[in-house]
Amino acid sequence: MGVLEHLQPNSVFRFFEELSAIPHGSTNTKAVSDWCVAFAKERNLEHYQDSANNVIIIKEATPGYENADPIILQGHLDMVCEKAPDCPKDMEKEGIDLVVDGDRIRAKGTTLGGDNGIAVAMALAVLDANDLAHPRVEVVLTTDEEIGMLGAVELDMSPLKGR
Ligand SMILES: [Zn+2]
Repeated sequence: MGVLEHLQPNSVFRFFEELSAIPHGSTNTKAVSDWCVAFAKERNLEHYQDSANNVIIIKEATPGYENADPIILQGHLDMVCEKAPDCPKDMEKEGIDLVVDGDRIRAKGTTLGGDNGIAVAMALAVLDANDLAHPRVEVVLTTDEEIGMLGAVELDMSPLKGR
């Protein structure tokens, strides 16, 4: 742990690092989906998980913003798994190895999953923050986007009030 620990905003990179430790290629999204549900439970946030492993997490408005329109933050949980020919990693079972390279983050021998992991990390950071003022935030995390938006097709949008 802690390859990204020194980077700011700290919570964004902490969640990105946690996510990177969980294998999450397309069609392999149960674990990452459960990680999001655990995040929501720990914080007592309203949440929904479906059989396609999509997750919706809702955080109510902070004082003064109850009448503002809800905001939807959307990202996808799956990544494209590619690796160098000499990389021994089993991306179905192993997380990726993050490397900070100057002002870039990359992964050792594999794709990074910055698409769309950084969106997931940012959305969780917003949900985690206690120092942000915001209207109702609805985080929508879908699966299998990279192979045809299969999760989004299955998504039950009825919990959402945002437009
Ligand atoms: Zn993508």
